[in-house]
Amino acid sequence: MKLPKRYDPKAAEAKWQRHWAEEGLYRFDRFPDRPIYSIDTPPPTVSGAIHIGHVFSYVQAEIVARFWRMRGHNVYYPFGFDDNGLPSERLVEKEKGVKATDVGRARFVEMCLELTKAYEEEFKIFWQSLGISCDWDEDYSTIDPLSQRISQRSFIDLYEKGRVYRKEAPTLWCPECHTAIAQAEIEDAEHGSVFYDVAFRIGDRDLVISTTRPELIPACVGMFAHPDDERYRDLIGQRATVPLFGYDVPIMEDDKADPEKGTGLVMCCTFGDTTDIAWWQEHGLDTRIVFDADGRMNESAPGYEDLSLKDARGRIVEDLESAGLLKGQRPITHAVNVHERCGTEVEFSVAAQWFIRILDIKEEIIEAGSKVNWCPDFMGVRFRNWVENLKWDWCVSRQRYYGVPFPLWVCAGCGEVVLATDEQLPVDPATTSPPVDECPKCGSVDLTPEHDIMDTWMTSSCTPFINLKWREPGDRLGRFAKVDGETEYLMDLRPQAHDIIRTWAYYTIVKSVLNEGKVPWRTAMISGHVLHPDRAKLSKSKGPGAHSPAATVEQRSADVVRYWASSTRLGTDTMLVEEPLDAGHKLVVKLWNASKFAIMRLEDCDPNAPRELSIIDRWLLARFARAEARARSCFEECEYHAALEAAESFFWRDLCDNYIEIAKKRLYGDEGYDEPGRRGAQHALYQALLGTLKLLAPIMPHVTEEIHSLFFAEREAVESLHVSAWPDRAQEWADAEAEEVGELALAVVEGMRKIKSTAKASVAAPVGTLSIACDADVWKKIEPLAQELSGVSNAKRVEHAEEAGPGFVDTDATGVAVSADLITEGGEE
Ligand SMILES: [Zn+2]
Ligand SMILES: [Zn+2]
Repeated sequence: MKLPKRYDPKAAEAKWQRHWAEEGLYRFDRFPDRPIYSIDTPPPTVSGAIHIGHVFSYVQAEIVARFWRMRGHNVYYPFGFDDNGLPSERLVEKEKGVKATDVGRARFVEMCLELTKAYEEEFKIFWQSLGISCDWDEDYSTIDPLSQRISQRSFIDLYEKGRVYRKEAPTLWCPECHTAIAQAEIEDAEHGSVFYDVAFRIGDRDLVISTTRPELIPACVGMFAHPDDERYRDLIGQRATVPLFGYDVPIMEDDKADPEKGTGLVMCCTFGDTTDIAWWQEHGLDTRIVFDADGRMNESAPGYEDLSLKDARGRIVEDLESAGLLKGQRPITHAVNVHERCGTEVEFSVAAQWFIRILDIKEEIIEAGSKVNWCPDFMGVRFRNWVENLKWDWCVSRQRYYGVPFPLWVCAGCGEVVLATDEQLPVDPATTSPPVDECPKCGSVDLTPEHDIMDTWMTSSCTPFINLKWREPGDRLGRFAKVDGETEYLMDLRPQAHDIIRTWAYYTIVKSVLNEGKVPWRTAMISGHVLHPDRAKLSKSKGPGAHSPAATVEQRSADVVRYWASSTRLGTDTMLVEEPLDAGHKLVVKLWNASKFAIMRLEDCDPNAPRELSIIDRWLLARFARAEARARSCFEECEYHAALEAAESFFWRDLCDNYIEIAKKRLYGDEGYDEPGRRGAQHALYQALLGTLKLLAPIMPHVTEEIHSLFFAEREAVESLHVSAWPDRAQEWADAEAEEVGELALAVVEGMRKIKSTAKASVAAPVGTLSIACDADVWKKIEPLAQELSGVSNAKRVEHAEEAGPGFVDTDATGVAVSADLITEGGEE
């Protein structure tokens, strides 16, 4: 069959996506006897539209899935959505303009479910349009009953292992979202601020401290100086008066007070920062909470009640100034902690919260992390640094509405916790009776449901368990888990972006270690981000909407966008710019045109017929074997980018620029070329083109499948390129001798092209004599190729010259130089 003149990506991509879906080509267990390769797909957070960063990282992981499928694995590649918790709540608040307090919890949760479902449908259609080869029958959402059940089961397991505790504790608090948050959810931001020098008093003496948080003065519970700081030695043990509020606080010494900073004297408030919390704990200080959950001052700051923190700051500065207690002020920029979901500066509050105890097992977590093969490997260092610097146990309770409930009731009489039974899961204790009628400890019948919900990471950290259907009927742990040396892994691959190493990767490792005593995955594939795309440039040339990923796929085709996503090394950030998109387009066109030419010459090719290969045919196959081995080892380490380079370099240089040119006349069966020679060339071309399609199939699945289906599928008796065997032919085709001779031939062709281009003649310009200067033993190797070299050079004769005289062109380090007498009549372009 002849290939159509032009390739229509829009029609072909839609056709193949439909076909793959109808055939269930990527269904897990379609090849149940093959070894399993399992992927812990990142469930995207349903908090708004898909962005180009999603495309970037999902495509990179999907390429790896396709590679392992062709390597003969039964690939488990599910798809999930992370649609529970705060991000989805904020989406509803933003899109519907309501808060849970306006419409009630039940209606609010319903609205969350409706809105996230609509987004998920849109996501799904989009992923399919990119050719993502996951198994949609294996999809899950983190709010679905299975995920809730497994998440609650994991919590109960941790509770029973003594890992869960509840306590009144200073907790990171977001005044915008009204909830406790975890250390992992805060980010640094540079904020402009002002350092105020404020005088405390002891007798007649001013004790000046510097602070950026004058509104926390009423929360002051002590003052600190460094033990070596001579200036304050006499004050230690005395009490100072807090300005404006008139009460006394103790003056103490502690190593954490920095003599170099400000006056060397600092105030300790409950709570301004983590140092305050440490002092509060170590020195047993009072607690003075001066603002409420919504960030408004309360009665502990008399005179400032109901003011926002910001307004209170202004008023307190004014009042300090008029009282003569403000001794100076200067602007500064400093790093502050903000909540990553909303950008609000975080505060601390004291409330009863649920925690998972982690600080005592940091070493175990680091050890587990060190057994994961991080790609690229510096991402493992990021993980380790994060865990080493942890200061908090994991606060897992959230004072929100849409999420997985804690599966428990608390006895109002004695505080005993009553856990749900496994049969009750998933359970909402607010609407379900506890499994016992009375408290097993004190007999009270007053068992209060826990109203807080769990942190979303409590559930998303269970994705390996959700994939494994952990402790469910049909539990897959035994099928999926693998042992490598001493280490047992739950799954093969976790792909994810680098910003959530400290959350998703970290919490998943914690859960796998605590719940199962295993490492979650053998390999963690960590991708980069897409940075500020060059909007002006792209939108000018492509019109508005060029930046929605769907519009980009529509304009550029899925294969081209996938090529762009593969054009950056794993873990590296990138931008959406034209060049790689153009390069991808060029490759699609060249692949089509080269295939069109080749297939015309291959119509009567029987891949299984006996054949004799010339040395240049053997050279082509050896070059392919080299490219394949390189691509394979790169794909195995998730280095899709280097794999693409190997495949492309073979295709452009070896196959198109050289082999096809050199073997053209033989393939045409031109005069002077015999039939066995033509058959040999056909065989090499057939294998090289089919192999190229296979190397590129993971990256550009549509155009490769289209070409394959029009010619190879029937001859190879396979239903799809994507479930055909990886072309692992290194053993069979490696050929050092052919590679050496092939490179000599290329040197001649190269020299010939230089001569013609210097003379501004076309590449087909006829030549009288092509002289090749080289040593006699080199000539022996080149001589058998004389016919083909004269063919590709359009030369009447090919001769050996003992020495390279004037007019010879040297070709690099091969020891070969060529000269040619161009026949100019009619040869000029
Ligand atoms: Zn927030
Ligand atoms: Zn009780």
